[in-house]
Amino acid sequence: MSVQDALKIYRNENLAIEAFKKYRLQKGITCKKCGHTDHYWLASKHQFQCKMCRFRTTLQSGTLLEGSKLPIWYFFTALHLLKDQTNLSISEFQRHTEHKYSEPLYDFLRRIRVHLSLSERNALLITFLEIASMAGHKRVDVHDNF
Ligand SMILES: [Zn+2]
Repeated sequence: MSVQDALKIYRNENLAIEAFKKYRLQKGITCKKCGHTDHYWLASKHQFQCKMCRFRTTLQSGTLLEGSKLPIWYFFTALHLLKDQTNLSISEFQRHTEHKYSEPLYDFLRRIRVHLSLSERNALLITFLEIASMAGHKRVDVHDNF
């Protein structure tokens, strides 16, 4: 399978949001305003809402992607590419995302390299592939990929 083919599965923002949401829920969400930890998921806004004070938390807030405006599927694409290319270049990443500017990509990759261990990256990719598989997007054998 070519790199391009392998990456196709990650080019799905809805699946990426679901997978990133699962990752967030596993880590736990704490309301910045009142400290409560129970939240609703506002599907149309891709935000969590505190059950106590209704304060909203974005999907990226409180994670390594805090403040990032880039699509979430870039995140999983980067994780996949970094699995085989630890020296992944910005131009290579830019080629696969077709993003117009390199600067935000540079910061994006830096955050992943700084904040995520290899085991966390693999766990995230497995989460994505499981969700994709459940969504019937494509039959994926998770074990073939690792
Ligand atoms: Zn709150």
